[in-house]
Amino acid sequence: MSQEKNNIPSFAKASASKMEKIVSLCKRRGFVYPSSEIYGGMGAIYDYGHYGTLLKNNIRDSWWKEMVQKRMDVVGLDSAIFMHPKTWIASGHVGGFNDPQVDCKKCKSRYRADQLLSEFGVSIDDKTPIEEINKNLDKLRKEKKIKCPNCGSTGLTEAKIFSLMVKSNIGSPTDELSEENAVYLRPETCGGIYLEYKNILDSLHPKLPFGIAQIGKAFRNEIVARQFIFRTREFEQMELQYFLRPEMMKEKYEFWKEERWKWYLEYGISKENLQWYKHEKLAHYALEAYDIEFNFKSLGGFREVEGIHARGDWDLSQHSKFSGVDLTYFDQEKNERFIPHIMETSVGLNRLFLMFLDNAYTEEEVNGEMRTVLKIDKRLSPIKVAILPLSKKEELTGPAKEIWEKLKDNFMVEYDETQSIGKRYRRQDEIGTPYCVTVDFETLNDKAVTVRDRDTMVQERIAIDKLEKYFGEKLK
Ligand code: ATP
Repeated sequence: MSQEKNNIPSFAKASASKMEKIVSLCKRRGFVYPSSEIYGGMGAIYDYGHYGTLLKNNIRDSWWKEMVQKRMDVVGLDSAIFMHPKTWIASGHVGGFNDPQVDCKKCKSRYRADQLLSEFGVSIDDKTPIEEINKNLDKLRKEKKIKCPNCGSTGLTEAKIFSLMVKSNIGSPTDELSEENAVYLRPETCGGIYLEYKNILDSLHPKLPFGIAQIGKAFRNEIVARQFIFRTREFEQMELQYFLRPEMMKEKYEFWKEERWKWYLEYGISKENLQWYKHEKLAHYALEAYDIEFNFKSLGGFREVEGIHARGDWDLSQHSKFSGVDLTYFDQEKNERFIPHIMETSVGLNRLFLMFLDNAYTEEEVNGEMRTVLKIDKRLSPIKVAILPLSKKEELTGPAKEIWEKLKDNFMVEYDETQSIGKRYRRQDEIGTPYCVTVDFETLNDKAVTVRDRDTMVQERIAIDKLEKYFGEKLK
């Protein structure tokens, strides 16, 4: 695997400082670290620290609550990352899941040929055949018209086809590693849903329309992955595959488009920063495809966060054909057997993580000083309440720790007694903690504490025995 620097993409130069600030905050405050850093790092692989894990889990849980817990017609699944080799032959990924790649001979930068071409002004979309992309690029390359965006050299390599599939060597060492029996790390989570569809039908007996939801890791050997956690080689997807009768597709597709759009608004993304992208050229089996795009200030514009696709009966038909197993559904009311059609919603958890940070990151002046604050939805904040004794003296740290004990069963609370109160407020602002509780000498007399609101910075005096109820209401 190449070890690229995680430099900022050229198209994002205008907003590089925002990306740099987010990357720096993530590392400084323990959200996201570059993986294997002590060994020099791995290109486009990241680890999530304490606050990063908490934030990512909160985003994941809010999706699960909306898509599974609050619905009668959706069940959950956690399928394995490894699947039978035929899975990816049936789905068309082996042999077909490729990107066009070009290298600069001088500075060794690596590019996706389609991105180089569109930056050059050649019109490319996601359905332009890879051979056509490479042909176009090679023409410009030979004419020395196209340059390496990094060093300006015209010495580019011939465009190659590069598979995004990550191959493993799982299995007996004596197994022959031919293309037909190669095992891959899954490039998307929905494969597991199609393979378990029959077991779910046979064990849970859901009636159409119904959905299967899954959250899990996916792996893609991305050629160019220089946009922090926007595009990485190991990432998490949250997918719903919704099975239905073909004549239900139009209504259900509109329904899910609306549901997913509302989810973003519900968690504080304004509609001005969201847009639909309609895929004009569709895969032969697809009936309709839209993406939800978010206006990433750190990337210089709107980028895809989620895909919503009407996929017809292609996936189940292919797996039925390749496995030889009947994957039809029997509709008792209509006395009819058929392969259900599928509507899918597919979103990257790590990409949402970056979206929420991009949306929340705020710098503002307070009394002549700059403060950085993550104005993120309280339900997503990693820490809900920080308990801060005004002094390190036992008479204050004792009651402060008691408050932590009291709240810890119901809320993610943090106790911090280091440095000045101003610095501790700033630290909590930077990680997006909605409430800080200060325990001061007055607390010893009035059995009350000061609660400071992250966004308004307004402080309120609240009795200690009312705190649980107070936060219960505020953090709903
Ligand atoms: P893109 O065009 O950005 O490569 P895609 O169209 O290939 O994405 P899908 O295969 O539809 O993406 O995957 C669904 C979602 O999974 C995307 O909308 C994105 O949020 C997420 N995703 C896909 N690839 C990556 C990746 N390499 N890193 C992080 N998230 C990803």
